[in-house]
Amino acid sequence: MPIAGRIVRVTPSQEVHPGQLVSPLERLDTSLLSLPSYRSEVLVVGTGVAGMCAALSAAELGANVIVLSKGGIDETNPRYAQGGLAAAIGEDDTIQAHAGDTLSVGCDLSEVSVVDAIIGGGPDAVAWLLKLGFAVDRDEHGKVSLRREGGHRIARILHSGGTATGRELQRALGAQISNNPCIHVLEHTTAVDLLKNADGTVSGLVALMGEGRGAVPVKFEAGAVVLATGGGGQLFRETTNPALATADGLAMALRSGAQVQDLEFVQFHPTILYLAGAARFLISEVTRGAGAILRNRHGVVFMGDAHADAELAPRDVVSREIFRQMLKTGDTHVYLDFSKMDNPTAKFPKLAQITKSFGIDLAREGVPVRPAVHYFIGGVAATLEGRTSLPGLWATGECASTGFHGANRMGSNSLLEGVVHGRLVGADVARASRGCDPRPLMPICGRYCQSEPVELNLTDLTYSLKSLLWRQAGIERDASGLADALMRIDQWEGYLERMAPFTRQGVEAVNMLQVSRALVLAAAFRRESRGAHFRADFPQRESDWLCHSRLSCGPEGIWLRTNPSGLQLTSNS
Ligand code: FAD
Repeated sequence: MPIAGRIVRVTPSQEVHPGQLVSPLERLDTSLLSLPSYRSEVLVVGTGVAGMCAALSAAELGANVIVLSKGGIDETNPRYAQGGLAAAIGEDDTIQAHAGDTLSVGCDLSEVSVVDAIIGGGPDAVAWLLKLGFAVDRDEHGKVSLRREGGHRIARILHSGGTATGRELQRALGAQISNNPCIHVLEHTTAVDLLKNADGTVSGLVALMGEGRGAVPVKFEAGAVVLATGGGGQLFRETTNPALATADGLAMALRSGAQVQDLEFVQFHPTILYLAGAARFLISEVTRGAGAILRNRHGVVFMGDAHADAELAPRDVVSREIFRQMLKTGDTHVYLDFSKMDNPTAKFPKLAQITKSFGIDLAREGVPVRPAVHYFIGGVAATLEGRTSLPGLWATGECASTGFHGANRMGSNSLLEGVVHGRLVGADVARASRGCDPRPLMPICGRYCQSEPVELNLTDLTYSLKSLLWRQAGIERDASGLADALMRIDQWEGYLERMAPFTRQGVEAVNMLQVSRALVLAAAFRRESRGAHFRADFPQRESDWLCHSRLSCGPEGIWLRTNPSGLQLTSNS
């Protein structure tokens, strides 16, 4: 069914779609009151950089904090971060210059006050991290060494062990969390859905503790709940994100009625190693900064014709151009050529080692690469303190959308955002939850679900979803592809919500499908191209769309609205 037939257009800047989001708790065959429960002032969901910084900062102000992690404490995105963390700490750098670069990459959609606050907090955040023991690379005089990346006009990227920045950041923060007596980390505990008390305040959640079919449902009660669950790269077939990135926090927020923002902006990383059987290893911009060149299968260099900055053009421009070259030459990838670089094997030893094991000599042969989904720019709409449209609920990190990145994210800015915003959120929740005594939660009476005669193959379903989004909501979108994607999602949702088992895999599949639907609706709503969102049928940037898209789910259906930039959330805690 085409999207147009399903939309009720309210005003030119609003749409409402029929549809309810069913909670996985519908599959829970027990009453909430009987679940084992945990209580804390602050509950943080996620042990990525944002969640850990929020927990540490809340604990610094005396709050007792429980932190949940779906996997082990260090199974997160930062672990894979190779570029680094951007901060204006160089002698030739200023906060204004860093903010200016961020605003220009954000394509006029960044919130200026948020950019000023987060970039402005960079030097202090770096000093805090160094004090915690974050070990960064230094030059021969002991000065922090800084490098340049695409979009940054000045060298301002701090790094560790060359390309092991994320791992070191995770180690340093993890050590602090583990040794803090006010913080309790519960690993292998998957948050399923938020709970509210009688006045509608978010006051806890239900989670699955443990893995597989042996996992048990438990209940958490808290004065403040912080979602720091990362992004949703796993919604797409090609992604740099780890398996945990299934947009759980976004799905939980949507089901609770929270507003989400700018979901159509999904950033692709242009150069991912593409070899059958090899992990989708990210090949950082640093390689192109150091002189690696993109060529198509015929050896033609193409980026110079597409953008003045050639190989160092913004990520969306490079991704789209690679995609077009793939279509033009009928190939599944293009090549990154290191042959003009002095001693590339010494400069990029890890990459050289990986390509060598697949029989490719970096110094002589092109490395096959293609784009992959890398970062969710949109997320749960949140203020600078992380407050969302629901009282009791905060969001930070990649699962939040503060307007910092605008329509496109500049490389190495997200670790900075995770640290600065995470700490601001931690301070706010510590104050808001001080001495709280969470009021009784509304009982959810779980229904017994008839077991279906047919068992669902969840792996097959999620793979079909990932392929659908990759094809029809990926680097280039148009109205008919998005309408078709929505029709298929509707069809799958019809039986998945009924048949998904109450296990982590079942919950993740429901989350992925529900967030996919929201993402497709948002991509169809924005009828222009800007930053990471490219509509083949509306290829120009339009001044009418100089606004955020806001989506929320209520009893009347799924609302989409434009929200002028600069406006804050309305119904706040
Ligand atoms: P994450 O790090 O994704 O952490 C999410 C946490 O939430 C995890 O602990 C997970 O277990 C938990 N979680 C999720 N769902 C649930 C649930 N239902 N219940 C309980 N827990 C849950 N950014 C930069 O600035 N510089 C870089 O160089 C850089 N390189 C990158 C390289 C790669 C390969 C990738 C994938 C990303 C890179 N990024 C980089 C982006 C950056 O790493 C992420 O944006 C950032 O780390 C996100 O942090 P986060 O704390 O928001 O979430």
